[in-house]
Amino acid sequence: MTPVMLRIATSLLFASAAIAPLPAQISESELTSRRREMVDGQIEGRDIRERRVLDAMRKVARHLFVPPALIERAYDDTPLPIGSDQTISQPYIVAYMTEALDVERKHKVLEIGTGSGYQAAVLGELADRVYTIEIVPELAQRATMTLRTLGYTNVHVRAGDGFGGWPEEAPFDRIMVTAAPAEIPKPLLDQLGPQGRLVIPVGPQGAPQWLTIVDRTAKGVVQRRTLAVRFVPFTRSKD
Ligand code: SAH
Repeated sequence: MTPVMLRIATSLLFASAAIAPLPAQISESELTSRRREMVDGQIEGRDIRERRVLDAMRKVARHLFVPPALIERAYDDTPLPIGSDQTISQPYIVAYMTEALDVERKHKVLEIGTGSGYQAAVLGELADRVYTIEIVPELAQRATMTLRTLGYTNVHVRAGDGFGGWPEEAPFDRIMVTAAPAEIPKPLLDQLGPQGRLVIPVGPQGAPQWLTIVDRTAKGVVQRRTLAVRFVPFTRSKD
């Protein structure tokens, strides 16, 4: 994508925000080199080895998924606020969860918790079909616009409560949840196909949450906990 297109993308991105601060004056080449450093240092430099995951993280322009006022910090080793009391996850966590999900191109993938759309874009680099659900309508709308502007026609965004999954498109080969429920929602387990894998942070707010990997094997469902994490709550719609 050319710098001009990127600039248009950035301004379109937050056109709907009431008081959009001017984007920081920082060049595309500086952002690209910060992204490379982010992957080298924070991701490959820790323990992420999967080539396709590293390539996807090198490609997706994370700075287009954060509010303009935070562009300078887009490649920092931290989660960032994206409005509506929500956050875009720390880059390492995105990479860790993506590697744990073990996505292949042919997989049909469901994400619950679209947020900024960044994780969905990373998944969209790896799989042909990605479905993602966001409960906050403004975030769903903004992520739809961002993903459309960047050409992710294989990523489908729906506004709504992801507790019930996306029955019309089920079963899924892979499901990722990026908000933490106290327990794994049963409809998501039901929508996990044969040899399917679900990656989800589980645990009550205020207590340690565990990133949990659930596999549907020929012998049944197998669960294991991997990493202690802190995610925003998995909320439910009232109707
Ligand atoms: N994956 C996101 C970050 C997620 S933050 C990114 O890459 O930016 C978690 C998101 O989950 C928040 O936007 C929150 O609104 C959303 N969420 C919480 N409960 C949800 C539910 N029941 N269904 C769908 N989305 C939910």
